[in-house]
Amino acid sequence: MMTTKPDTRLWSAKIRKLTPYVAGEQPKADNLCKLNTNENPFPPSPKAVQAMQSVLADGQTLRLYPDPESDELCQTLAQYHGLDRSQVFVGNGSDEVLAFIFACFFAKERPLLMPDISYSFYPVYAQTFEIQTQLIALKDDFSIDTDDYRMPSGGIILPNPNAPTGVLLGVDKIAKLAKEHPNSVIVVDEAYIDYADDKTASAIALIHEFDNVLVTQTFSKSRALAGLRVGMAFGSAHLIAALSTYKNSFNSYPLDRLAQKGATASILDEAYFQEKRLAVINLRKELVSSLVALGFEVLPSSANFVFAKPNHATLSTQEIFEKLREQGVIVRHWDKPRIKEYLRITVGTDEQNARLIEVLSQILT
Ligand SMILES: *Cc1c(COP(=O)(O)O)cnc(C)c1O
Repeated sequence: MMTTKPDTRLWSAKIRKLTPYVAGEQPKADNLCKLNTNENPFPPSPKAVQAMQSVLADGQTLRLYPDPESDELCQTLAQYHGLDRSQVFVGNGSDEVLAFIFACFFAKERPLLMPDISYSFYPVYAQTFEIQTQLIALKDDFSIDTDDYRMPSGGIILPNPNAPTGVLLGVDKIAKLAKEHPNSVIVVDEAYIDYADDKTASAIALIHEFDNVLVTQTFSKSRALAGLRVGMAFGSAHLIAALSTYKNSFNSYPLDRLAQKGATASILDEAYFQEKRLAVINLRKELVSSLVALGFEVLPSSANFVFAKPNHATLSTQEIFEKLREQGVIVRHWDKPRIKEYLRITVGTDEQNARLIEVLSQILT
């Protein structure tokens, strides 16, 4: 990392104007209670790990380029979701897939619509790809009212469940958006959808009916493979063809051999996936009860994190955040309008959640 300000004399004017995204901290110290970036508290499927070990065991394999189209993985994903292979696209994490989506679909005359509170990478992509945006305010309870989106649009993007709030929008409402904006691509970023109690919450079901719905998902959260970098998009073959055209215009080998094998094996291990998914949902419910008992107001979460407001008489949320940090418990806090009174807390293991609650009760009493 460069610590002094770089000399930008040789940079293009465009790059000089960019403000990059700042990811949640990945601290180097051990024994921290790390509840700040929504990683899975459990390890990935042992079968996924084994599949990657077998690639490494054959020392020859990495000599060869990977399959440029990740066919085995795409076929496996298509079968898993009842789609055709032509409706599936994969990339290095959904962040890369989202960048491609911004480049392919949103540079239009009319603005891209998105919630005022959502994934903070979206405005960065919009800036990078020179896309004008229109922020639509969430309601006071942090829900989305799709009627507020009744205006000319060059596209719509929203996380569902929303981040950092965890609040879920019904799939019927997404269908309504798709119907009302037939000439715009509606992107539903489902990074956390596997943690919704309702198993029919995904907008993948809408792909058969609407050619303008594009759903992204990731292996980083519910499949515990954030370090592997695999994300995907599901949509009509016409939308997926645009993503492939873009990808193959500068990098035809997006996923490496380990990632393709590991991700495929993870999808095939359905029993492990379901067990851990439900375990996190249960841990979330316990965490919510403990936070409520400490006086927190907690938004209804369909994700592996909660968005919670402490309501303390004297301490501000910022002060509570800093005191947690001093005790080695790291959560996320944004000093931004509307959300600065909230903490976003990732659901941890039983032990991590207990440590959080113990430290919080010391701070608050
Ligand atoms: C974590 C996250 C992503 C990015 O996931 P990767 O696949 O790891 O790039 C995308 N969208 C939202 C809302 C997220 O929280």
